[in-house]
Amino acid sequence: MMRSLLPFQFYTLPPSHHHHHHLLLKHSPNLLLSPVQTFRSPVSLPTPSVQKPSSSFTSFRRYCKLPVQDIRSSMQSRPSSGEIHVITGPMFAGKTTALIRRVQAEQSNGRNVAMIKSDKDTRYGLDAIVTHDGTKMPCMALPELSLFRERLGVESYNKLDVIGIDEAQFFEDLYDFCCNAADRDRKTVIVAGLDGDFLRRRFGTVLDIIPLADTVTKLTATCEFCGQHAFFTLRKTKETQTELIGGADVYMPVCRQHYVDGQLVMEATRIVLDAERPAVV
Ligand SMILES: [Zn+2]
Repeated sequence: MMRSLLPFQFYTLPPSHHHHHHLLLKHSPNLLLSPVQTFRSPVSLPTPSVQKPSSSFTSFRRYCKLPVQDIRSSMQSRPSSGEIHVITGPMFAGKTTALIRRVQAEQSNGRNVAMIKSDKDTRYGLDAIVTHDGTKMPCMALPELSLFRERLGVESYNKLDVIGIDEAQFFEDLYDFCCNAADRDRKTVIVAGLDGDFLRRRFGTVLDIIPLADTVTKLTATCEFCGQHAFFTLRKTKETQTELIGGADVYMPVCRQHYVDGQLVMEATRIVLDAERPAVV
């Protein structure tokens, strides 16, 4: 129930502000994971004062243009249809933290949850998802999602309500899995993963499921140079392959300006390093 009421708090922001996502994230990452459909007609929404209590169903209805049916179905403990929610953004944006919070919230509402991650990322071991700040949750590490149902057991799978997927960009079969889980099996699927690589090109499979998703949340990190919102990941090393798994030793979050500056510096460094390297005979 809380989940369907949370979006209401969005309206305490001035309606003229166009960066709801980034602003809100700073204060409360949880809010961002509320359904995005509340943004459908932001212009026509009234702006209640910040002090106004916003936790009653009546006041929610007053400001929400959603049909009653939508609200009712989202308040049922077991929804009749599946859902797909995507959490994306650069590295260090708190995607995994947001995913864990969301899945744990579902769990505390009495729903059966499971967490999956790619077995490509072995930085923290394979049996748990660990955030950069140390939050942990048990998970199943897999090379592909199609193995999940069998590995978990069909009976357990059928009892599942919520499936969280971390490092989702690595799963080639993300689209098919999400489609089946949400459409056919009526699961809520919450997906966290990168949208782009260190050159800001599309990366992996997360972008493929945007057309399937109920909500999409793009999180931001904090620029290591200036502290502004960071939308991109800068690679600090001279490696140039697209897939290079690493943490703060290899990558840093940067704003647009410092991404552009940083790329120039990295390019210059690579040229110098290449020039200094002895010729291979
Ligand atoms: Zn910056």
